[in-house]
Amino acid sequence: MKYNQSNLQARMNELLIEQSQHYLQGAVADYIPALAKVLPSSMGVCISTLDGNVVGAGNYQQRFSIQSISKIFGLVMAMNRVGDSLWKRVNMEPSGQPFNSIIQLEWEKGIPRNPVINAGALLVSDVLASHYSSSKLAFLNFVRSLAGDENIHVNMDVYQSELAHGNRNAALAYLMKCFDNIDADIPEVLSHYFTQCSVEMTCQQLTQSLLFLANKGISPSDNRVILSRKDAHRVNAILSTSGMYDQSGEFAFSVGLPAKSGVGGGIVAIVPNYGVICAWSPPLNNFGNSVVGMQLISKLAEELGLSIF
Ligand code: GLU
Repeated sequence: MKYNQSNLQARMNELLIEQSQHYLQGAVADYIPALAKVLPSSMGVCISTLDGNVVGAGNYQQRFSIQSISKIFGLVMAMNRVGDSLWKRVNMEPSGQPFNSIIQLEWEKGIPRNPVINAGALLVSDVLASHYSSSKLAFLNFVRSLAGDENIHVNMDVYQSELAHGNRNAALAYLMKCFDNIDADIPEVLSHYFTQCSVEMTCQQLTQSLLFLANKGISPSDNRVILSRKDAHRVNAILSTSGMYDQSGEFAFSVGLPAKSGVGGGIVAIVPNYGVICAWSPPLNNFGNSVVGMQLISKLAEELGLSIF
């Protein structure tokens, strides 16, 4: 790699300047009205490496709504809690459909295509709600311990807004319940799901929290086993094939990293044996991916030679 810590910092600052007008090509998500309150020109990027270096630029220490990035944390908790039985209730195939599509779920008898589309994340939320006495607190504690920050919290304004506009997610959950693939009461499942989506974190916190996925399941700072090696492999495989909504194929084709985006405008990309990149810029393209976030990660991955392929 041709960058060291200081010229990487300079390059990241420069990339943000290059991208400074490109956010105008996207639109901030407003189907959850509280998400639309964010400043569209906000942008930040951060890289944390396994050897403890952190380089960030722009608003990389500003909290934002992690939305679907939370699906990674929920999935890890559910895998640890119920083991391989999870894969009887959710598949591991790309969906080829928008993240909140309901059509495929009926065809496939209430078994979601994968755990990072909404139906799959609702199924995972059911696993957590059914196996923890307080799944929302367990989720927060898990994320806080990974990020090393007790102040990570849920934005209740976003939570209430998701609840008030969550009819499609409710429909997905009720449809799965018809197929006997949801155990808990639907309001409890939705409450867990909206809570995890409404957690706010910074780019820096997200990179720190996900380092274990770049390190075969082990947190590099304290050697804690967060996930088995086999399950870390599986999460990265799912993120590579399904983490970028219906643009996952294109992202693998052009960038080549396991990644997950959220409609809050964040994208995390896992670089095995190296570290984690997170970019944030709220305006989204038609697939629901951050326009500038995609550009920032794509350029850094190319210039640092990070593709796994
Ligand atoms: N809370 C959002 C929803 O369920 C998450 C969507 C996303 O970030 O992909 O619609």
